[in-house]
Amino acid sequence: MRYFPIFADLQGADVLVVGGGEQAAQKVRLLRKTRAHITVVAETVTDELRDLEEQNAIWIVLRAFLVRDLEGQRFVYAATGDRLQDAAVSRAAKARGIPVNVVDTPGLSTFIMPAILDRGPVTVAVGTEGAAPVLAREIKTKLEAILPANFGRLAERALALRETITKAVPDQRARRRVWERLLQGPFRRAVLSGADDEAGRILADELHGENAPARTPGAGRVVLVGCGPGDPDLLTLKALQRLQDADVLVVDRLVNPRVLEYARRDAERIFVGKTPRGPTTSQAEINRIIVREAKAGKVVARLKGGDPFVFGRAAEEMAACQAAGIGFEVVPGVTAAHACAARIGLPMTLRERVRHFSLVTGASAEGEPDLDWPALASPGSAFAVYMGVGNAPLLRASLLAAGAEPDTPVVIVENGTLESERAIATTLADLTDCVAGLSVGSPAVIFVGLDWAEAGLCRPESVIVHRRRLPRAAGEGRDESVVNAGVAQ
Ligand code: SAH
Repeated sequence: MRYFPIFADLQGADVLVVGGGEQAAQKVRLLRKTRAHITVVAETVTDELRDLEEQNAIWIVLRAFLVRDLEGQRFVYAATGDRLQDAAVSRAAKARGIPVNVVDTPGLSTFIMPAILDRGPVTVAVGTEGAAPVLAREIKTKLEAILPANFGRLAERALALRETITKAVPDQRARRRVWERLLQGPFRRAVLSGADDEAGRILADELHGENAPARTPGAGRVVLVGCGPGDPDLLTLKALQRLQDADVLVVDRLVNPRVLEYARRDAERIFVGKTPRGPTTSQAEINRIIVREAKAGKVVARLKGGDPFVFGRAAEEMAACQAAGIGFEVVPGVTAAHACAARIGLPMTLRERVRHFSLVTGASAEGEPDLDWPALASPGSAFAVYMGVGNAPLLRASLLAAGAEPDTPVVIVENGTLESERAIATTLADLTDCVAGLSVGSPAVIFVGLDWAEAGLCRPESVIVHRRRLPRAAGEGRDESVVNAGVAQ
């Protein structure tokens, strides 16, 4: 982030606009939303600006810019339409440490203007650091659709209620819940539709009614949130709500840090990473942490990679909550196999051909998986191996020993949905060589028994093909050549 967003208080502040054309008028229009004292310095001005002066809304000085015009100004806008003049204004302002904006010229500006959505007092400012103002406007348009025109009314009402509610509900966490209920529930609907009496009734009920939630201290609870494989766009709407609801986040290693940006900024973060063969927070310790935090009355979001119920040790955490009498909820997430398969366009079941698909783990507490190899090796079997990279040689050997075809298709997706994503197509026979040769690392999903051709599809170009052995052509004896190793096809 090069440009840091802030909201400046312009109540009664002096602001200078240099220039009198349409660009200057645009800045004046924007500034008039505030209570700033606006001075325009220009040799000529548009009719609009002249009218504004007649209404005493701005003050115009009809001459060229002089350095002394900067005296006492809080902000300066250079909008003369003349590069040299704008540059001179910028230099003079910078020399005096006054923030300056030169229209459409970030290089000469010390601040830039965001796209602004005004639902006073709610203001949304969107910036792209000058990279693509079109995108900023697009976002603004979308927000306009979401925020009703009278949204500001709700904020005004909240402002008027601040003191009353602070007095009625001294506990800070309980108070936040009251605000959430008021601003998201029936109270909000009543205010936005102008039903003030009804809004008043709902408020009184919330604060003083018989079952006033505001009076009962919030009970802590635990939410196991599936955060998907990495790409935050794959969070469910419910995961998003729970993230924003949480007082404490207990975060797994596989949860993409970008997902945390969707949580409340003041939510506490506890990292309980379990790195393969690295430092570890034991499961017992994690259970203790979530129970301890919930008992303190907090809403605990236990953030897990993918889906909590897929190799996520959710059962242990739920049991710990149950034993401690703490309420819990599970929010499903997109599991790695689903996300990875989607990235490479590889269906996990096929009509008439792949009728069942399993998720298996390639690791176990003892290190080596004890799987039903004959079942997995049987014709038509298809499955995704989680945590399998370290045991790829064992996986290959066990499947081949149980009778799997050496040319069974294998597709590996490493860091699925992340920027560093890599997808590799190989065969069971070449699996070990592929993982070693291309230094495949964790996290990765290994798909066995799925192939695009089988589904009548083309393999995406982004998929790397790794073959150590040439398929033996009929009647020919040569094999063991290295072709296509690691070459994108
Ligand atoms: N609950 C998670 C799985 C946790 S086990 C889920 O539903 O996805 C950890 C394993 O998940 C990793 O070893 C890897 O096999 C897989 N995995 C998680 N994130 C992944 C990603 N972004 N790309 C590929 N595999 C991933």
